[in-house]
Amino acid sequence: MHYDYVIVGAGLFGAVFAHEMRTRGKKILVVDRRSHIGGNCYTESIDGINVHKYGAHIFRTSRREIWEYMLRFADFNNFVNSPIANFHGKIYNMPFNMNTFNRIWGVVTPAEAQAKIDEQRREIVGEPRNLEEKAISLVGRDVYEILIKEYTEKQWGRPCRELPASIIRRLPVRLIYDNNYFNDPYQGIPKGGYTAIVEKMLDGCDVRLGVDYLADREKLSNLADRVLYTGAIDEYYGRDMGSLEYRSLRFEHKRMAIRNFQGVAVVNYTSFAEPYTRSIEHKHFEFGDQPTTVVSYEYPFEWSPGVEPYYPINDARNQALYEKYRQRAAAEPKTVFGGRLGTYRYTDMQDTVIAALELANKEVAK
Ligand code: UDP
Repeated sequence: MHYDYVIVGAGLFGAVFAHEMRTRGKKILVVDRRSHIGGNCYTESIDGINVHKYGAHIFRTSRREIWEYMLRFADFNNFVNSPIANFHGKIYNMPFNMNTFNRIWGVVTPAEAQAKIDEQRREIVGEPRNLEEKAISLVGRDVYEILIKEYTEKQWGRPCRELPASIIRRLPVRLIYDNNYFNDPYQGIPKGGYTAIVEKMLDGCDVRLGVDYLADREKLSNLADRVLYTGAIDEYYGRDMGSLEYRSLRFEHKRMAIRNFQGVAVVNYTSFAEPYTRSIEHKHFEFGDQPTTVVSYEYPFEWSPGVEPYYPINDARNQALYEKYRQRAAAEPKTVFGGRLGTYRYTDMQDTVIAALELANKEVAK
């Protein structure tokens, strides 16, 4: 059988692209070296609870057409992500909002909170040069020390003074009593889990799991006219110009005979007292009431070759190296690169869906 496309990686990017091409009558083969589809969105049902095996995935978007696109594959519930932060046993609301400021400073009105922030941000003069300065200029030193510094240093394994300010831009600061972590108007969790969505997207495509494309690339490439590669771009080239850096994660999943362990889907541990950054109680994503529960602890650690890459480290050195790989990739005659690892980007699910739809349109226009 000859295919129009071999798609390397059965994650969200590969699945959206596969679906788009399939609906345009193309023949598709999807390969993945893992034993399951879904990439890092993969969910597995344990005791009737959809467990996010590679960390919390909360779908959200500001674009109605993207929301409607996802609704073609599943019903979404009205889950709103309102994580709490645990700092030495005290609980604070996230993201930074009036509830948080009240807890830290005892302030009640937005004007009082603003005055506190203004007083504390004065220590930063001029343009913030790194994550620490950016954080203090946004919310002041107290919030920085309780909710940002140690969490960020655990997550990235580097001092906040050596991290780019851009990382923290993801986090909203609000002078209203509102614990919704995201600003997007559309947000939710798919009923039945993400794996079912990806399964639907891949309907009509051939899927081969446990297949390492890079180990057999010539044979697999010859099966199709074109290739979409969503793995790590530096690995594709054998890292012959040097290795891009990543941050990795390890998950410890615990099944417990408890109905409600932490009372919320996500707890952030913002001090060095715990080696993990988050605990996730999956049943709360779907308002589950099972007699048991599954809780996952998230441990960040430094990536090295052979380890699963999660977050790209988008600092100047790595960006410059990525740019060199990107130029080589752009010259490939039959292979296109996509997704978080193929384009070395820190992406949310909606960015992934949008980028995959765009690539599909580009391919069709060829
Ligand atoms: N962050 C923080 N304290 C928190 C949560 C997040 O300082 O309690 C910072 C941290 O630097 C992190 C960034 O905000 O890297 C982005 O966090 P987010 O939860 O959006 O990351 P993701 O869910 O993508 O891992």
